[in-house]
Amino acid sequence: MTKEEFIKEIASYVNKYREQFGIKVASPIIAQACKESAFGTSELAINAKNILGIKLKTNWQKRTPGAIGGYNKDTKEEYKIGQITNINATFAKFNSWEDCVLNYFYFITTVNNYKEVIGCTDPESYCHIIKKGGYATGSNYDNSLIEDYIKKYNLTQYDKKDIVIIKPEDTVSGYSNSPLVSYFNPAKYNGGERLHKIDTITIHCIVGQWTAKQGCDYFANIDRKASCNYVVGKDGDIGLSVEEKYCSYCSNSSEGKNANDQRAITIETASDKTDPYAITDKALNALILLCADICKRNGIPALKFSYDKNERVNHLNGVNMTCHRDFAKKACPGDYIYNREEYIASEVNKMLNNNLLEIKPITQPIQNTEDINKFNYIKYADDYADLKKAFGYDKQKLWNHYQTYGRKEGRKVYFDFECKNGYLVQVKIKDLNIRESHTVNSKSKGFIKPGIYTIVEENNGFGKLKSGIGWISLKYTERVWWIFGN
Ligand SMILES: [Zn+2]
Repeated sequence: MTKEEFIKEIASYVNKYREQFGIKVASPIIAQACKESAFGTSELAINAKNILGIKLKTNWQKRTPGAIGGYNKDTKEEYKIGQITNINATFAKFNSWEDCVLNYFYFITTVNNYKEVIGCTDPESYCHIIKKGGYATGSNYDNSLIEDYIKKYNLTQYDKKDIVIIKPEDTVSGYSNSPLVSYFNPAKYNGGERLHKIDTITIHCIVGQWTAKQGCDYFANIDRKASCNYVVGKDGDIGLSVEEKYCSYCSNSSEGKNANDQRAITIETASDKTDPYAITDKALNALILLCADICKRNGIPALKFSYDKNERVNHLNGVNMTCHRDFAKKACPGDYIYNREEYIASEVNKMLNNNLLEIKPITQPIQNTEDINKFNYIKYADDYADLKKAFGYDKQKLWNHYQTYGRKEGRKVYFDFECKNGYLVQVKIKDLNIRESHTVNSKSKGFIKPGIYTIVEENNGFGKLKSGIGWISLKYTERVWWIFGN
């Protein structure tokens, strides 16, 4: 396993669990795992699946949930600066690195010394908090995490930004921005407030299979008049570069009231670097969703494309999609997109007509383990009248809708997961007991915090928590599938 593979694996566990504990950043924890375990190669990491140097507490069954026992090992501690002491310590042993990460969150969020990590949005401050709280005795622990790991391995890329919600007061003259955006970095240059109302969409190819973040960061730093309103990344992620209220510098047409960039929302899409500048299916689906959202918010009743340049440039016969090549000697948007403009328009119009666009903020990233064969399409159709009307019980169509839009809209779907793999439930109430076993009369171990939990076993209407801490009554939980995979 390379260092990069280790980082990716640990990042997936950190990002799977951190939100339910109120932890806002991932990079310090990944850095800790790298440092404490020498990228998964240490004795503890291999023999005890302990990558975070977690010690076994006395009364550990209660205080180290998820641990399966202890592991003795000599360790160096620096209780006084510069003075290294060898001690023998008992570390916690886990079944997996994932369990270790989960346990870390229980630990770090329940011990008073570290409580400031909850809600902390700055990776460096996080490192100082855990150093101050005594996580490790090394005098340089926090700075080492920052310099030797977070910066060196660019770990902040795993600190997913929260959804940018531009507040109404930030908008001028009724302009808003797409709630689909997961990243916002303002471009260095924009053409100021629009001189024309939004009535056009111009899709571009960015000539590189980039993420939305890469695209936005590029326009935030480039020293010439180049920008766009949105960037669609190769994985279907959507970034905001120039707010809709502003004119972007995207189509070589920004001077004068009727210039293309004054009236169009411009979208750069991650694409191949060579002709026909193909884009991924994920990017294509995201483009459709974004275009539908733009139309809906800006009162554009339908999209219309034409393969006649004159119709496009002069907005004849209701045509409201233009191309960069209309205004400059360029291949943009490339033939791959160009040949799909009508398709994009028709998919957008279908969404607008069937009112299939009800976008809710994205709440929780989770790994992709969905499978059409486990997808309960009958329930999905029955739950949503509009989908049933549009697709009936057509399994493939419902699945496609779910994949493309349903997840982003926050629609709930049901999967028949085998229990041993676990499934997710949401606890909304504050006074749900964690029971020692699967009966109402068994001893309570306290209340579970509202949030998302993994259930690994069911018995008598109770679900066993993955952490091993106990059982909760499933009656008070809602089975969920969270949305918008990585
Ligand atoms: Zn272009």
